[in-house]
Amino acid sequence: MKGERFKVKIHCKKCGERFILRGIMDEQGHIETGFRQCICNNKDAFNIETDD
Ligand SMILES: [Zn+2]
Repeated sequence: MKGERFKVKIHCKKCGERFILRGIMDEQGHIETGFRQCICNNKDAFNIETDD
């Protein structure tokens, strides 16, 4: 739901690193976490799961 906070799990497809962040759903249904890139500099190849 819009404005709702939930846990987001991000898994880097390049190096396998996992991150757990807090995300917020915006009005378009996009999940905003503030996450920009992995420690391996990957910015594009991620698996993203949400716990709600
Ligand atoms: Zn990575």
